[in-house]
Amino acid sequence: MVSIEEAFERIAKQRPVRVKQHVHPSEAVGLHLADVVVSPMDIPVFDNSAMDGYALCGESDTYRIIGEVAAGSQSELTLAPGQAARIFTGARVPKGTTAVIMQEKTLVEGHALSLTEIPAAGANVRIKGEEIRQGQEVFQAGHYINAATVGMLLSLGITSVSVFARPRVGILITGNELVTAGEQLGEGQIYESNGGSLQAALQQLPVEVTGVARVTDDLESTSSAIRDLLGEVDILLISGGISVGDYDFVKEALAQNEVEEVFYKVDQKPGKPLFFGKRKHQFVYALPGNPASSLTCFYLYVTPLIHQFLGGAAKVPERVGLGHDFEVRGVRPTFYRAKVEEGVATILDKQSSSMLHSFALGNGLVFLSPGIHNKGVEIPVWYY
Ligand code: AMP
Ligand code: MG
Repeated sequence: MVSIEEAFERIAKQRPVRVKQHVHPSEAVGLHLADVVVSPMDIPVFDNSAMDGYALCGESDTYRIIGEVAAGSQSELTLAPGQAARIFTGARVPKGTTAVIMQEKTLVEGHALSLTEIPAAGANVRIKGEEIRQGQEVFQAGHYINAATVGMLLSLGITSVSVFARPRVGILITGNELVTAGEQLGEGQIYESNGGSLQAALQQLPVEVTGVARVTDDLESTSSAIRDLLGEVDILLISGGISVGDYDFVKEALAQNEVEEVFYKVDQKPGKPLFFGKRKHQFVYALPGNPASSLTCFYLYVTPLIHQFLGGAAKVPERVGLGHDFEVRGVRPTFYRAKVEEGVATILDKQSSSMLHSFALGNGLVFLSPGIHNKGVEIPVWYY
């Protein structure tokens, strides 16, 4: 058995093989750039108006309006001193433009334009290349691709970027008692839920889920299912069968498949029987079957490895205040499902490892060591 710190450390020490891949920016959100991005062009692409108004040439009491330029139009208009052109946001400013005045600050009579305010030189003109220059390094390798990055890349006309590929994650569910929702429950059976909750948790991360496989509680089927899945995944998540019961075959099946143990059992509640191992460049988590244990172990120990595959840093837990006095009975450090609002954590009722309801009502896992904790103390939270 290892401590929680040791478990985190052993995961952090892993160096997954990151695969570089070229994708369209629209496929890249949530990933990290594998290489620098150098701009192929200037942004803005040409001098253009930041306002709906009038392009002006020189300083004058009144201007003569000689034409109009709309966004996207190809006007060859040139302004001489004392001349103006009707212009709209995003339109290329005519040659000779010294400033743009917004339309709210003008009076127009026929072709005559007068101003209620004198604009500063260059006012409301966006200059070619003022944001980004052709040849400039726009993003460093490792940059996290958020929605704005996708937009930025597209605005540069880029259709392919080099990223670290999404790890392929497979799920294997063990348990003779499990029935899929929608089917009839027999005596002693329960509905299967870990496959769905793990898949849902994975959907919120940039990974490729290869599928959810099911196996009965026997060594041979478990071993052969693991062999098949290891043929197609970077990370394998197994649910259940990792405790010490007579029907728990996962540990032996992993050994049969040359999966080496990195750790087995963590001094924590819930999720003590967690197994983490590897086979060459592949990683295997055997998550305890109890639904709250399984999901707790996923958020704490699986997500950091996924971020390592993607080239990002593991999320450091935030600190929040405990909303009430609380005693952790027993000797094991414990993660509790909590509702965290405005920096204050309320530990929810019904925390048994088999209970998902509190998990569903909460939004964070808070950590407390054994003993008495007073209202207001700072505790770490892993939001989910
Ligand atoms: P195990 O870790 O296989 O001993 O399972 C521990 C507990 O979790 C048992 O009560 C199982 O019925 C339950 N359990 C295991 N797997 C699942 C699952 N996929 N969905 C819901 N409950 C499960
Ligand atoms: Mg089981």
